[in-house]
Amino acid sequence: MVGSCSSCKSGTTLQRAPGHPTFISRVQIIGRNEPVVQVLSSAGSDWTKDFGTGIRIRKRRYITAVSGSGGGRRMRTTVNAAATETLQKGIAEFYDESSGIWENIWGDHMHHGFYEPDSSVSLSDHRSAQIRMIEEALRFASVSDDPMQKPGQIVDVGCGIGGSSRYLARKYEARSQGITLSPVQAQRAQALAAAQGLDDKVSFQVADALNQPFQDGQFDLVWSMESGEHMPDKSKFVNELARVAAPGGTIIIVTWCHRNLSPTEESLRPEEKELLNKICDAFYLPAWCSTADYVKLLESLSLQDIKAADWSAYVAPFWPAVIKSALTWKGIASLLRSGWKTIKGALAMPFMIEGYKKGLIKFAIITCRKPVS
Ligand code: SAH
Repeated sequence: MVGSCSSCKSGTTLQRAPGHPTFISRVQIIGRNEPVVQVLSSAGSDWTKDFGTGIRIRKRRYITAVSGSGGGRRMRTTVNAAATETLQKGIAEFYDESSGIWENIWGDHMHHGFYEPDSSVSLSDHRSAQIRMIEEALRFASVSDDPMQKPGQIVDVGCGIGGSSRYLARKYEARSQGITLSPVQAQRAQALAAAQGLDDKVSFQVADALNQPFQDGQFDLVWSMESGEHMPDKSKFVNELARVAAPGGTIIIVTWCHRNLSPTEESLRPEEKELLNKICDAFYLPAWCSTADYVKLLESLSLQDIKAADWSAYVAPFWPAVIKSALTWKGIASLLRSGWKTIKGALAMPFMIEGYKKGLIKFAIITCRKPVS
C-alpha cells in the first residue's frame, strides 16, 4: 500500500508497514549532518512495534530510519527500502512457519487447483487439479513439447517448496532454478529434489524476485506461479522477468489480481479496498493491481504474443476445500502448533472467498514471449 506524503517538500512516496493500520503522513529530516529521518504517524498512536532492521521506535509517535540522509530522493529510498525489508521478512517468516503444514495436508504444490466449474471434488482430486493448473498454464502459453523447442532452462520465481520446478524439470528434461524468500522452503525444496533423484536438474536458493541473481537472457521459460501478488513493485517485477528471459523465451505469470477498473473509475470502491486490506495484512500482499495493469506493463516492455485470461471460475472449489481441510482435527492441531502468522492467514481465507464471489478478486493468467531480437 503506497501513500503520498503531502506535507514534506519532496512529495515522498511512503509505504505502509504491513500490519500497521494507517499510513505514515509526515516525514522530516532532523539534523543536517545526522543521517536520521523522523517519521510521524497520521494516527498519533503509540507505535511500540519494531518494524525490522533499519527502523526502530525512537519515542512515542516517532520512528527513525537510521541509514541515509540528505534530500528527498535519498530519503524516499531509505523509507521504502526499510518497508520492503520489513515486507520480505514477513513473507519469509510466513512461509517458514506455514510451509510444513501445507505440505502435510496438500503436498508440494502451494497454488490453486484448476477445476471444471461447479465440480465437487475430493482431496486427491485437488492434488491432480494443482497439476492440471500447471498443464493448463503451459497450454495457454503454447509452450512446445517438441524436443527441439521445449524449454531447456527454467526459472521458478517464488518457487515455494519447488513443486513446479520438479514437475517442469521432469516433463521437459530441463534444468530449473527456483528462488524464494523463505530459507525453510529453499531447504525443503532441495531435500525433496534429492529424494527424487533430481538434484542434478533443479536447484533452489533464497533470493529476491525483484533483484534476481541471474544474468540477462538466461531462461527459455520464466515461471511465476502465485508469487506476483507478493511483489510490492509490479513494474520492477515484470522488468526482472523480462530481463532474465532468453530471446524467444516464454513468460508465464499466474497471479491474484483485483478486477479491471471501468473507463470511468479511478480506483476501487472504498468497501472493496477495505476487503483487500484485510487480505493484504494476513497474506503479505502489498500492492494489488488488475490484469489490465499487468498487460500494460508487458506492452510497455514491447513483449510479444501477450495473452491474459480470468480463470476465477476454474479455481472456485479451491478455498472452500482449503478451509475444510483446516477444520479437520489434523488441520486444527497443525494450526495450533504453527504460529500466529499461519493462524492469521487461516482466518483471512473466508475473505478470499468473499472477494471472488463479489468479482473483486480475479485469478489471472498473463503470458507473453520475449522478442527474438
Ligand atoms: N510457486 C509456488 C509457491 C507459491 S507461494 C507453488 O506454486 O507451489 C508464494 C511464493 O512466492 C513463496 O515461495 C514466497 O517465498 C515467494 N515470494 C514472495 N515474494 C518473493 C520475492 N520478492 N522474491 C522471491 N520469492 C518471493
